Amino acid sequence: MVQALDETERARRREDALAVVADPPADDLTAVALTWVDTSGITRTKAVPFNRLIDAAEWGVGMSPVFDAFLLDDSIVSGEYAGGPSGDLRLHPVLDRLVPLAAMPGWAWAPAERFTQEGAPHPIDARWLLGREAGLLAAEGLRVLAAFEVEWAVSKGDGEDFSPACNGPAYGMTRIGELSDYLRDVLLALEASGVAVVQIHPEYAAGQLELSVACDDPLSAADTLVLVRTVIRAVSFRHGLAASFSPKVTADAVGNGGHVHLSLWREEAPGKRVNLMAGGDGPFGMTRRGESFAAGILEHLPALLALGAPAVASYLRLVPSHWAGAFACWGLENREAALRFVQGPAGFRAVSSNLEVKCFDGAANPYLALAALLAAGRAGLESGGVLPEPLNDVDPALLDADERAARGIRPLPSSLEEAVAAFEKDPLMRASFGDAFVDTVAVVRRGEAALFEGSTPEEIAAATRWRH
Ligand code: GLU
Ligand code: MG
Repeated sequence: MVQALDETERARRREDALAVVADPPADDLTAVALTWVDTSGITRTKAVPFNRLIDAAEWGVGMSPVFDAFLLDDSIVSGEYAGGPSGDLRLHPVLDRLVPLAAMPGWAWAPAERFTQEGAPHPIDARWLLGREAGLLAAEGLRVLAAFEVEWAVSKGDGEDFSPACNGPAYGMTRIGELSDYLRDVLLALEASGVAVVQIHPEYAAGQLELSVACDDPLSAADTLVLVRTVIRAVSFRHGLAASFSPKVTADAVGNGGHVHLSLWREEAPGKRVNLMAGGDGPFGMTRRGESFAAGILEHLPALLALGAPAVASYLRLVPSHWAGAFACWGLENREAALRFVQGPAGFRAVSSNLEVKCFDGAANPYLALAALLAAGRAGLESGGVLPEPLNDVDPALLDADERAARGIRPLPSSLEEAVAAFEKDPLMRASFGDAFVDTVAVVRRGEAALFEGSTPEEIAAATRWRH
């Protein structure tokens, strides 16, 4: 949990920064970029010279709270709780995540925590909300491990248009051959920044690639996503390429998902924990608590989409039969279910069994996406939620509407407006995150919906392509 910044805490942070400066993680560090992710999923930053890190750790760096009300085109909406010109916040680097950025020589990166000038956590700061959710589970002896898959499309980088940087087929080895120097540099830069990549491959759409990273606690998983994107963008620039993480890079192709993997663990003793997604007598070996956690997520998915699929472009991606998970159902290894249960190989399931939320995308603020998933999972635990029958072998789009209804399978919201309405209607969101947060998210989402009213899919894709 984040400590309020009293004298002792500030002194502790100063000591930590002194230690980093005395023994820097790389030679010749010139500057540190402090990042946070705004309501609309865009990573924003302020940077300090490396020798200012100590003051930044103790006193923070000034930043307007207005960014809570920024839209993806940098225009600003005005809500009851955010969007005004006054006030100030302080960005404090999270020093234990500070790493050098190998693809940006001289630069280091650290995620920022946002505090008020009085030293309290900013009550709608995404990173703080996620830390609080993880803390609530921890208080019950539970821990989530999470990881975001990163899909991106790489363009030749000549201008605003998307022009695929490789021609080879989906999943084709040709693409690795075409981009081998680039992909090697992505892997090297990530390794130098301490990211544990577990896999990298060419994806389906033209120029599309994907990498996955090891699972971690929720805050670290969200930080890692920001870092991975920063590194991929930087390596792309150095190769004269441009990376798009947008949910819909071009109107006619499969988009970029931001699938979230989650497993729930019970802390048995310090250093010993048990995966509640395996070894039980629930469906496919889930424990009953693992099942309840999953049931909570499934139940709240329509509302969660306002955080996990936050852009107008998200709903160009989230269509049936595109492996994006457009129906609120779950199934074993079903890539058309919004919630896919992944078991992994027999013999390894106590480690590998996990849930994959497929309907979330690359525009999501990872802190908010995870905070909402944890809140929904916890609500499922509290109510003893039970999963409906799984849909394992069939694309829900191929069932007729009556059969879907009989099985309790609903289509997820098909527009940002629908998702926001579900979000505002779901009492869990207000109970978990408060009125200021719910109001701010709703105002930002409606602002983005208004921004694109009457726009064609091509126009929406073009305006979103290089923003996240
Ligand atoms: N690109 C797809 C999406 O939009 C996902 C493909 C896959 O299942 O990895 O989510
Ligand atoms: Mg994929």
